[in-house]
Amino acid sequence: MPFQNTLEFAQSLDREDKLHKYRDEFHFPKVDGKQVIYFTGNSLGLQPKRAKKFVDGIMTDWQELAVEGHFHGEKPWWSYHEMLAAPLAKVVGAKTEEVTVMNTLTVNLHLLMVSFYRPTSKRYKIICEEKAFPSDQYMFQSQVKFHGYEIDDAIIEIKKRDGEKHWRTEDIIAKINEVGDELALVLIGGVNYYTGQVFDMESITKAGKSVGAFVGWDLAHAAGNIELKLHDWDVDFAAWCSYKYMNSGPGNASGVFINQRYLGKTDIPRFEGWWGTKKESRFLMKPEFEPMENADAWQISNLPVLSLAPYLASLEMFEEVGMSALIDKRNKIVSYLEFILHEIDAEVDSSFEIITPIERGCQLSVFLHGQGRPLFDYLMKNGVITDWREPNVIRLAPAPFYCSFEDMYRFGQILKRGILEGVS
Ligand SMILES: *Cc1c(COP(=O)(O)O)cnc(C)c1O
Repeated sequence: MPFQNTLEFAQSLDREDKLHKYRDEFHFPKVDGKQVIYFTGNSLGLQPKRAKKFVDGIMTDWQELAVEGHFHGEKPWWSYHEMLAAPLAKVVGAKTEEVTVMNTLTVNLHLLMVSFYRPTSKRYKIICEEKAFPSDQYMFQSQVKFHGYEIDDAIIEIKKRDGEKHWRTEDIIAKINEVGDELALVLIGGVNYYTGQVFDMESITKAGKSVGAFVGWDLAHAAGNIELKLHDWDVDFAAWCSYKYMNSGPGNASGVFINQRYLGKTDIPRFEGWWGTKKESRFLMKPEFEPMENADAWQISNLPVLSLAPYLASLEMFEEVGMSALIDKRNKIVSYLEFILHEIDAEVDSSFEIITPIERGCQLSVFLHGQGRPLFDYLMKNGVITDWREPNVIRLAPAPFYCSFEDMYRFGQILKRGILEGVS
């Protein structure tokens, strides 16, 4: 059925949408007393209403049980993180034992580089995408310096071709083959944060491994957004934050994937702590480190359970809905948003350019030719929460868990009004 840019049509899509009821499971901020249209689930997902109950559960156990809460209570803290592994493994296409939750994203990438960036005088180069997320760039640079290599020599950024807005898989693979036996690591953002481009992780992983490099993925914008098959793709490692599409709360714990092949090993370089040693003997307080048989071997400290609580609440919802239903809705709502943008563009004779390629997840990045920051400010003032990236890009991510088709229609109307009022 062709789309229509009308309220009735948008509402009819909402009526057909099996996930529509989940909208009520989230807290929406308000602007001028009205629920906002929220496009920044790629930056900070909305709060699941049930998250508070999970946090309160820990506060109550702490209040009533104190130290006994580690082993008693409904959800004992000492094994709390284990409850997250199974549902999370489904989200990223992994075996349960390959997944753990700990620390935060950049910290985990550093820790994973301890295991998977092991440069030698011959093989020390890293391939990443040009203009990677800044935190990732700082991480690469500091790792390379730490190991005593030159940044310009060791870090190879894959460029886009002149005049093109997306990376080509063939260019990435060609570069991997060219660097060949000097390549130690390929580490790229699975979904680019700026353009929303989804990389062909399967082919790139295969290429990297075929020249003998380790291949890891930063899945900050991918987890909970796109279909992932980390185990089947034979990825070595990956990490993601949970506060974007995974709706776990600001600055919250990161998820980690470590390929089964590396589990249960004592001879892998790794920074270790007591939470990675075998549970059975952990409290014997022995000097020998005996790694957990699963990805928990990378755990260092006992976990911040207060921050795992909202993550667990959110995962309960991913478990109920499943990634494939989320992806179905995502495809439809993103297509509808794209349609609305084209309609408005034609009506007001403006010129937006969607710079997101067809290999996409939830995000459309829109370049506002001619219009700029004032239009963005107008949207925000009128209850459309989006984000602005220099030089002239707004990123729109209609998270399928809680955005409605009616939101897309209403956004179009506000956008049109903004342009006609000449705020740009
Ligand atoms: C959001 C994001 C981060 C954030 O890292 P933190 O350590 O959680 O602050 C890192 N890398 C990418 C690609 C991101 O999108």
